[in-house]
Amino acid sequence: MKIRILYLMLLWVPVFLSGQDKKAARFAKTITQEDLRERLTVLASDSLEGRDTGSRGQKMAADYIAKHFESIGLEAPVEGSYFQKFPLVKGTWNKIYVRKGDVIKENLTDFLYYSRSETSGEEFIELAFLGENLEYNDGDLKGKYLVMTNKSWGAWDKNIEKLKRHNPAGFFIVSNDESEFEFALSRFQNYFSRPIIKPEIDRTGDKIIITSTKLISWIFEKSYTEISEGDQAKVIFNADMLVENIGSENVLGFLKGTDKPEELVVITSHFDHIGVSNGEIYNGADDDGSGTVTVMELAEAFTIATKKKNGPKRSILFMCVSGEEKGLLGSAYYTSNPVFPLENTVTNLNLDMVGRVDDKHLETPDYIYIIGPDKLSQDLHQLSERINENTVNLEFDYTYNDENDPNRFYYRSDHYNFAKNNIPIIFYFNGTHADYHKPTDTIEKINFEVMKKRADLIFYTAWEIANREERIKLD
Ligand SMILES: [Zn+2]
Repeated sequence: MKIRILYLMLLWVPVFLSGQDKKAARFAKTITQEDLRERLTVLASDSLEGRDTGSRGQKMAADYIAKHFESIGLEAPVEGSYFQKFPLVKGTWNKIYVRKGDVIKENLTDFLYYSRSETSGEEFIELAFLGENLEYNDGDLKGKYLVMTNKSWGAWDKNIEKLKRHNPAGFFIVSNDESEFEFALSRFQNYFSRPIIKPEIDRTGDKIIITSTKLISWIFEKSYTEISEGDQAKVIFNADMLVENIGSENVLGFLKGTDKPEELVVITSHFDHIGVSNGEIYNGADDDGSGTVTVMELAEAFTIATKKKNGPKRSILFMCVSGEEKGLLGSAYYTSNPVFPLENTVTNLNLDMVGRVDDKHLETPDYIYIIGPDKLSQDLHQLSERINENTVNLEFDYTYNDENDPNRFYYRSDHYNFAKNNIPIIFYFNGTHADYHKPTDTIEKINFEVMKKRADLIFYTAWEIANREERIKLD
């Protein structure tokens, strides 16, 4: 027994007392609650106007991060710049209407244009009435707008999929309950009026119009119940946008490794948020101001280590991306246009919301949700566990790592673009809260004490990945 215990201790002790961890601890100290708070005060301030992708506030945030990278001595790796620019357009709806002669029926009143695809000006469209009969197969439906009666809101997207076999140009989804249609209008009006920010404007996507029987009767010139399957009608439809090229940028700072400079660890956060809506600023202190200021502090700790001749063996790329809230655009652009080869990218650590405590952990705030390491690499998973136990010892909550978890967070932040390219990742996340994507996600609600502990954990983990002999192994 004794020998066995001793043997186990031998396995355990060297890790705990390893020179690496001790060294790392010296530099983890440079990350402080005060610094985190000071930076977040800037990034989550009203003057940055919610950092909407492509907006003035987002660009101010990018400058702030780049200046920090420069001041601590990170290299500017994009042909001498800290910015990786990527194309982006902003489409603001101009006019959306259905017209017959001089009579015009308007979007957001008579119907709700659900799609994000524009027409090329006024188009003559042909409608073919199917009603409830989705099996209707007579005649050529190609290029027409199919009119179907909607029996349940949950089902129409499935019905659309089914009807795509006809290659139609679009769909009218008709609610035969007027109050149901009114509800849909009030619920989605705001959302569908907002500008669209995308890499490029789409003119080929499905065109879906949600409406009530009134509009359809007007188009077909008879009462809804008298319209028969296969009946056709023509009308003019217009859905056009004012398109502006806005462009956006990721901010990259590079620290060259001492022994294996060609291999690199990428540490990411997104610094964009959702801007201003109805006059209210969405400060995004937690989402993802918290991750971004943590990346800034991690970068500083590693550059201090480098100045003290303790720089990491592998290189580290600190990258704050934008366009996350519009669909992971910045990280998608980076992984399609990588500045350093993806084959040499050993791991991505992604921080998205690390400054709050969710309801589940109010009594036990020293926790973090860990998502993703075991999906591609048991090696990374074990390293992450071991480093935590030997250093900060937070509670690792794996609830959201479950494949069956309905939130599917693994697919919802920037690490996923790295995982898609077979790069092992860890996603650090504090969970959701009542202020998620609300104007109330403000700095007062940040818990800097636990945020600092999480920063330490990520620092130690990055340190180990960058310094240990073997690179992280894929399963
Ligand atoms: Zn986020």
